[in-house]
Amino acid sequence: MLFEDLNLIEPIKKALKTKGFTKPTPIQSRAIPSLLKGMDLLGCAQTGTGKTAAFAIPILQGISLQHKASANHRQIQALIIAPTRELAIQIADSFEEYGENLTLKTLVIYGGVSQNPQTKELTKGIDILVATPGRLLDLINQRFVSLKNVKYFVLDEADHMLDMGMLQDVRKIIAHLPKEKQTMFFSATMPAEIEKLANSILKSPIKVMVTPPSSTVEIIEQEIYYVDRGNKVNLLIDLLKNKDIISALVFSRTKHGANKIVKNLSKAGLNAEAIHGNKSQTARQLALNNFKERKTRILVATDIAARGIDIEELSHVINFDLPEVPETYVHRIGRTGRARRGGTAISFCSQAEKPLLKSIQKLTTKSIIEINDHAYPLVETNIEAIVKSNGRNTSKKPMTQDKPRSIRRNNEIKKKVARTEKPRSNVKGYKTKND
Ligand code: ADP
Ligand code: MG
Repeated sequence: MLFEDLNLIEPIKKALKTKGFTKPTPIQSRAIPSLLKGMDLLGCAQTGTGKTAAFAIPILQGISLQHKASANHRQIQALIIAPTRELAIQIADSFEEYGENLTLKTLVIYGGVSQNPQTKELTKGIDILVATPGRLLDLINQRFVSLKNVKYFVLDEADHMLDMGMLQDVRKIIAHLPKEKQTMFFSATMPAEIEKLANSILKSPIKVMVTPPSSTVEIIEQEIYYVDRGNKVNLLIDLLKNKDIISALVFSRTKHGANKIVKNLSKAGLNAEAIHGNKSQTARQLALNNFKERKTRILVATDIAARGIDIEELSHVINFDLPEVPETYVHRIGRTGRARRGGTAISFCSQAEKPLLKSIQKLTTKSIIEINDHAYPLVETNIEAIVKSNGRNTSKKPMTQDKPRSIRRNNEIKKKVARTEKPRSNVKGYKTKND
């Protein structure tokens, strides 16, 4: 199927041509015809599957076909809510791109910045509003936003809204919407609470399921580096300095961890920026733009801050920490390998993270390659073996024995063992401290 076959109006077809899109993605070819007919939609799909275009195109077409009559007084006809500011901005950008040959006005609003510029635009009149729940609810309560003319309502990444404790606000927003409207509901996963919400707002929806973008994931090289937690930063520096890495999105489990990584990279002369929830909106947007425009090569992010962010031509995703939830792994690595350009996902795995890796391996169909020949191999397993055999060094030899640095490592192992041996009861404590 081609976009040509989808009964789209000329200005939209033209915009798609400009973008170089000819073939709709699976979710687009399944969703667009039904959405153009006015049906509700339940979409089970992750980032990178083409969701935004799947709902933006029918909405733009629907509004512009009905809009002719009321051109001078704009009212919000479409509302899209998304969990993060970055995602909201990205969605608004998409509406502008796909609608570049139309005369509709799109506005994006989110918290963390002054509301004045936003309310000014709202007062002038807009057709499409993209918002995060908190700020939207604020502005509804202050009567800057009226939703009574909304004909299209989109809830994007509903499961993440649940994770981020936004469902209460979302329900309040829904209460302000007219009963008659077309609703599009998207979520990568369907926890019970999300299913309940979907059932309560959708009217006999068509259901489109697109499982993890496995086709994308299949073309990504996946590598695992076993490394002690304390050596992760050193390994990261080593890779960034010595490997052919054009751009890297580094995932950290915590905000604090992300800051620490950036600080350590800077000390090593590597320019990096961080995005996470504790940074101001302006700082986050700036860091993201710098990264997209290749001004910075390394972006360190937490999962929440990086959600839904679409970066073209990202060569590497680096999991500094393995995610607790295996699906998050698929989500993270899917940031690279977009548009079939390929990409590499590198994961660091410490002794304590091995169980996490196991569940990730169960989920991914493609095998993850073990990289053993690197500068900071895991030493702890060796220590365990030594400790088990009463301190006699019967441990496996390091994997890269012929290299001088391995010999150095071997000596280090012995030194560490010597330390752990003294207070025998402390062996466990030593382990937790280092991992
Ligand atoms: P999602 O919301 O699922 O993350 P988007 O609609 O934002 O997906 O699309 C993801 C990326 O794929 C974007 O860079 C977008 O420009 C591109 N894209 C979307 N649809 C198509 C298509 N039909 N052909 C080629 N590229 C596309
Ligand atoms: Mg998206």
